[in-house]
Amino acid sequence: TISMAVFDKMGKIAVGTSTNGATFKIPGRVGDGPIAGSSAYADDEVGACGATGDGDVMMRFLPCYQVVESMRLGMEPKLAAKDAMSRIARKFPGFVGAVFAINKKGVHAGACHGWTFQYSVRSPEMDDVKVYTVLP
Ligand code: ASP
Repeated sequence: TISMAVFDKMGKIAVGTSTNGATFKIPGRVGDGPIAGSSAYADDEVGACGATGDGDVMMRFLPCYQVVESMRLGMEPKLAAKDAMSRIARKFPGFVGAVFAINKKGVHAGACHGWTFQYSVRSPEMDDVKVYTVLP
């Protein structure tokens, strides 16, 4: 899965997710990719979130919507991301997944469950992409 958030100069935020789908997926399975709030969500007033992992589990929790709404209430991206993961893990301890969260100030973080997750960031003042590794 590639899940991405893009901020423009005017402060508009766009998110998108492309996925090859889950391993051994059922033919015709839709998955979490096109479900708004599950694999990606953004609000120009707050920030954005993208997800990867067990889509069939994660889509029941709309983790990206949860992250953005938590940040709207003042939660830092790191805590919002961790909280979204733990809400799922409480019900599905074996799930594998991750989210990144970024607020409109550009503060970003990731959280994951069941695997090590990497996300990358690039902004105009950076010379190159920086990769962040998040441990479960
Ligand atoms: N979330 C995707 C799916 O369940 C898989 C992935 O993130 O790699 O279709």
